[in-house]
Amino acid sequence: MKVRYSYLPQQFENPEEILEEIRRHLKTCNFTLGPEVDQFEKSFAQLIGTKFAIGVGSGTDALKLALKAIGIGHGDEVITAANTFIATAGAINELGARPVFVDVTPYYTIDATKIEKAITKKTKAILPVHLTGEAADMTPIMQLASKHDLPVVEDACQAIGAAYDGQNAGTHGAAGGFSLHPLKNLNVWGDAGVIVTNSESMNEKLRLLRNHGLATRDEIHLFGYNSRLDSIQAIVGNWIIRQTKDITARRIHNASIYDEMLGTLRTKVKIAPRRKEARRVFHLYMFEVVEEKDREPLYRYLHENGVDAKIHYPIPLFLQKGLSHLGYKPGDFPETERQAKHIITLPVDQHLTETEIRYCAKTVQNFFERR
Ligand SMILES: *Cc1c(COP(=O)(O)O)cnc(C)c1O
Repeated sequence: MKVRYSYLPQQFENPEEILEEIRRHLKTCNFTLGPEVDQFEKSFAQLIGTKFAIGVGSGTDALKLALKAIGIGHGDEVITAANTFIATAGAINELGARPVFVDVTPYYTIDATKIEKAITKKTKAILPVHLTGEAADMTPIMQLASKHDLPVVEDACQAIGAAYDGQNAGTHGAAGGFSLHPLKNLNVWGDAGVIVTNSESMNEKLRLLRNHGLATRDEIHLFGYNSRLDSIQAIVGNWIIRQTKDITARRIHNASIYDEMLGTLRTKVKIAPRRKEARRVFHLYMFEVVEEKDREPLYRYLHENGVDAKIHYPIPLFLQKGLSHLGYKPGDFPETERQAKHIITLPVDQHLTETEIRYCAKTVQNFFERR
C-alpha cells in the first residue's frame, strides 16, 4: 500500500464551485480586498471566537504585522520556541528584531518555566508557537507575560481550532497569526494568512499596516506594507472554512487510532503527553523513537513500505548556518536537540481512510516486531 503525505489533489478534486465563484468575481474586477475578503474575515473571526480577523498575505506576514502593531522594531528581542519553523524567527528578523530562543517541553511547545531566564532589558514580546497543532501552555505564559508587562503574540499557523484551558489558540495574547498555506489545516491555493485580535485599536492598526498605511485612498497614517489577503484566495477560503470543523474532527480521530496502535510499543516509541488542558488539532502527527539509533532505519523502512513519513524538523533553527550570527551553539537547547534526533511525522490528514491510518501504524509496529 502507498500512503502519500500531500492530500492536495483530493482536497481540491471538485473545484467547480470555487471556479464558478472566481468566474463571477472576474466580472467585478474587484481584485484587492472587497466583499470576498470581508466575508472571509467575518467567518474566520466567528470560527476562532474573536471580535476581529484581518486577512493578510501569508502566515509569516500575520506574525510580522502583529509584532509591528505592538511596536516591535530594531534592536528589540522577541522570545520564541527553539524548535519552530523558520518563518516564526523570520517574522521577528524582518522587523530588525532578534529572535531569542527558549527550549521546549516534551509536547513540542515553549517551556514556560524557562522563559523568565531569557528575559532581558531588550525583551519586548513573547511569541509562543502552537507547534503541530498542540497548544502551548498559555495560562502560565500569560501570567509570566503580565508579571513582566510583555505583550504576547501567538504563532497559531499550525493550530486552527486548537485550544488551551478551553480557550482557542490565537486568542490568549494581543493577537494570533494563522497561515492558510496549501499545507496547513485550512488551506487555499497559494499564500495567505490571518491575524485575530479582540482589540479595536490593534484591528485598526493592522488594517492600516497591511495596506500601505492607507486610511483612505489619499491619506497615509503610517508606513505599512503591501500584505493584503488576495481576493481570489479569500474565495477559496470562503469555500473551505465551512469544512474546518469536519477537517479538525477527522484529524483528531485519525490521531486517536495512532495513539492507540503506537501506544502498544511502549519501550520503542514515545508519544507526547496528552495533556487534558490542551485541545490538539494534529496539523502534524509527530511521535518519537525511544532509541535515537532507530530513527533513520524506521524512516527508511516506512518509505520502503510506501509510507511517506516526514521529519519536522531534522536541524533545529539555532544550529542552522543562516542563523549562526545569533551565536547559539550545540547544547544550548537540549530538549529541542534531542527531539530533532528522535521525531517522525506520519500522515494524519482528513482524506486518509482508516485502512491507510492503520497501515501506517502497522508498518511502525512491523519495524519493531521483525527485529
Ligand atoms: C507555516 C508556518 C508559518 C508561516 O506561514 P506562511 O503562510 O507559510 O508564511 C509560521 N509559523 C509556523 C509554525 C508555520 O508552520
